[in-house]
Amino acid sequence: MENPEYAAKERKKAREAARNSDPERRREIQRAYHARHADDPAYRERLRRKWNRKHWKKHPERLVTYRRRVEAQAACHRICTSCRASFPATSEFFGSAKRTADKLAAECKKCARNVKKVWWDQLSQEERRVRNSKQRAARATAPGIFTGHDIKALFVRQNACCLYCGIKIGRNYARWHVDHFMPLSRGGSNFPENLVVACEPCNRAKYNKMPWEWLPDQFSPPSSQ
Ligand SMILES: [Zn+2]
Ligand SMILES: [Zn+2]
Repeated sequence: MENPEYAAKERKKAREAARNSDPERRREIQRAYHARHADDPAYRERLRRKWNRKHWKKHPERLVTYRRRVEAQAACHRICTSCRASFPATSEFFGSAKRTADKLAAECKKCARNVKKVWWDQLSQEERRVRNSKQRAARATAPGIFTGHDIKALFVRQNACCLYCGIKIGRNYARWHVDHFMPLSRGGSNFPENLVVACEPCNRAKYNKMPWEWLPDQFSPPSSQ
């Protein structure tokens, strides 16, 4: 005599085997299950954990990076996405970015500079010339003109120091540049009133920023004075 319980179990086994042997049918069943339970938080949590387990198993090396990132965040550090080194999350080590939560760039300043240099090196000679001549044109078409006398006057006025960091500049001291206080690209002029002398690192760091954007503690925009 046949045991009904045993027969039911066998039938179920057969059904499951048939389902597993047909991947299309199996997927259909899974999709239906998902549709039925999509609003169930417990099911979604199970799914999330399953996905996480799978993900970390697939990319064990990313787990290391992830842990490092969490540790760095706890220490107010930030890991450069390019060189993977950890730096304090300050503007000293990271440039500014509009889209990130803390307004700091993902890459450290050193890597960002390298990228820029690589980008410049990749340009063809003609392209570089065009870009250089554009910059020269911006310099030439900006209103105003200055001479060596103006620069000498600047040196006297600033006591031969960088306007921004105060380092001694000149023949036997730090390398220096003539800096446009308001950048030419932002509507500044070539008149001596708009010129200052600055050490090379400060000039490079300031780049095309207004002084109050770069050093908000030292300068304030004209409107707020
Ligand atoms: Zn870096
Ligand atoms: Zn300086």
